[in-house]
Amino acid sequence: MSGSQSRRQAINAVTGYQVPDKDFTEPLGELFGRNTFSPAVMKSRLPKSVYKSVMSTIDKGTPLDPTVADVVASAMKDWALENGASHYAHVFYPLTGLTAEKHDSFLSPEDSGASMAEFAGKTLIQGEPDASSFPNGGIRNTFEARGYTGWDVTSPAYILENPNGNTLCIPTVFISWTGEALDKKTPLLRSQQAMSKQAARVLTLFGHDDIDTVVSYAGAEQEYFLIDRHFYFSRPDLMSSGRTLFGAKPAKGQQFDDHYFGAIPERVLAFMIEVDRELFKQGILAKTRHNEVAPGQFEIAPLFEKANLAHDHQQLMMTTLQRVAQRYGMECLLHEKPFAGVNGSGKHVNFSIGNGNQGNLLNPGDTPHENVQFLVFCAAVIRGVHKYGGVLRAVVASARNDHRLGANEAPPAIISIFLGEQLADVFDQIAAGALTGSKPAGTLTLGVDTLPPFKADPGDRNRTSPFAFTGNRFEFRAPGSSQSISGPMVAINTILADSLDYIATELEALIEGGMEFDAAVQKVLKDIITEHGAVVFNGDGYADAWQVEAAERGLPNLKTTVDALPQFDRPEVKDLFEKYAVLSNRELHSRYEVYLEHYAMSVELEASETLEIAKTKILPAAIRYQGELAGAAMNLKAIGMSFDSPTLDAITASVGALTSGITGLETALGIHAGESSMEEAVYAMEKLIPAMAAVRAAADELEGLVADDTWPLPTYQEMLHIL
Ligand code: ADP
Ligand code: MG
Repeated sequence: MSGSQSRRQAINAVTGYQVPDKDFTEPLGELFGRNTFSPAVMKSRLPKSVYKSVMSTIDKGTPLDPTVADVVASAMKDWALENGASHYAHVFYPLTGLTAEKHDSFLSPEDSGASMAEFAGKTLIQGEPDASSFPNGGIRNTFEARGYTGWDVTSPAYILENPNGNTLCIPTVFISWTGEALDKKTPLLRSQQAMSKQAARVLTLFGHDDIDTVVSYAGAEQEYFLIDRHFYFSRPDLMSSGRTLFGAKPAKGQQFDDHYFGAIPERVLAFMIEVDRELFKQGILAKTRHNEVAPGQFEIAPLFEKANLAHDHQQLMMTTLQRVAQRYGMECLLHEKPFAGVNGSGKHVNFSIGNGNQGNLLNPGDTPHENVQFLVFCAAVIRGVHKYGGVLRAVVASARNDHRLGANEAPPAIISIFLGEQLADVFDQIAAGALTGSKPAGTLTLGVDTLPPFKADPGDRNRTSPFAFTGNRFEFRAPGSSQSISGPMVAINTILADSLDYIATELEALIEGGMEFDAAVQKVLKDIITEHGAVVFNGDGYADAWQVEAAERGLPNLKTTVDALPQFDRPEVKDLFEKYAVLSNRELHSRYEVYLEHYAMSVELEASETLEIAKTKILPAAIRYQGELAGAAMNLKAIGMSFDSPTLDAITASVGALTSGITGLETALGIHAGESSMEEAVYAMEKLIPAMAAVRAAADELEGLVADDTWPLPTYQEMLHIL
């Protein structure tokens, strides 16, 4: 079958698609949390003392009492069996950023036949997956290849449904036998603890005596694309690397912005309804859904929750999106930039910190006291982002996200903070001396007057900023759509721990020296904004002028992953993570290695795929059509007619360019890049990426020249607009 025939068939299949009729009569509300071993389920199934002990571990971080594990395991197993589970799985989050599961059967063979296996506390608490297939960056030598999964009590176990039997999923951490973190979850839990401890010190200074554990909350807005699977399977590039390595820009692009908040196609809406139901069953409240800027692009945002839970739920959300899309004959693309020239996908991580007793610490509040406290926590964010902007850039670095950051549709690679006019003005005044005036209100003295309420007006928002204050939270916009939110949240918690530690220590010393509390706070705020105010930028992050200004302000502009990742190797960054016991130097270095390696490997994979498609699909199609045109020319000449074809000339030129591009890429792929991960990554960036670009440029040129019925790949137009 020729390329065009399969394209035509795909289009027919898509246009003839019927949304399956499913029985969704059960109200959504009744589904909520049905598949989770939630605190409510535990309360009804566990002895009171056991329940209290587990909840204290979840809420207060008290160590898990080993004697309760057996009781919990037994209750969990009964609950799982009643819910149709035949297997259980330890779920963990390796450094690939994906979710991994190790499945085991509840049944085990016995002399008298199979019988129900014991599911004891120790099975719940600890598992031993084959760790050798997960990246570890040198932490695990082969002779000590074991890795362990350990029950993460803070995240509820849940049932994963399948038509052929359900599985009890137990969220876990994944560590080496030496206790070193091999995953994304362990540092997240550690960073929460570190932040919590320092936040409590600051709250104590503010006179609170009922201080509850401070936690970070996260709500991640997930963008994604949907395309029909018929197209997907005709695009080996999408299948292997998640993005199109070829494709000319569509004639009807997003220039009309007519997709944004436009009507959702029926099939997509049906998919979204099922996604919501699936997520509801897992206790995930998906809140918004609308079309995004690009055609075929959508967004889903769950209600924010504690960051450790939000992380697990976000991972589950990504797999759910992909699984459910397939039920509707679609593929969910989570790649940051599946289509060149079309808007990319991000994952905005909204965060705040707080607890039940003290509330949201990033909320300005109604009293002068609360306002000052808010300014202090806000200043902690400003200081952290300024001091460790490079770290925030490094945690979102990937080959995929490189296509997005700084591409004038996503925040630039320069990490700055948007405060909004009002709040920026307050900090300007603090820097200038005492706070004597405030924008709409009159004179203001810290600790005496109330700040005006900060508007969270969406019209006010600066989409070009990577790190924006949005009324009662910050929104980190640089993370990419396929990334785990762990990296960003670990970085945020840790830099906050550092800033809050600094603030508490300063305040304690000033008060010790006899200064009034209010005066001490004023001084610390002034010091912070004077030293770190350079990171505040309310202007247009896309403007060229910002690149120049940011350089003058001394803000790093780390354009690529290769520029950004070495941030993890800076002494002050290693000290930061070590000091707050989030990642030891060895653990941090292992991540640096893994991410560099991952970068080089993904570029290499794309380069090989580019070569393959160019050689076996595009060049043959172009040559075939070139031959057809040349044949026509000969025939016409034979009967004495002239044949002047600019198309033939253009094709001949582009075929030439493609051929030499292919040779160049083949040569580049054949060269040994070097020994270290850094050498390989640099080689990938400097040699492979340009070589791929040359092939693509010639191929995309040909797409506009070769007869459509000969073109072997579904076009952007087809993939993005036929759903
Ligand atoms: P936007 O207007 O930015 O598109 P959305 O409603 O789409 O906002 O998503 C905002 C995300 O921020 C949601 O996940 C929401 O739950 C989360 N969020 C709201 N308030 C807070 C908060 N105080 N802390 C953390 N996340 C929050
Ligand atoms: Mg949104």
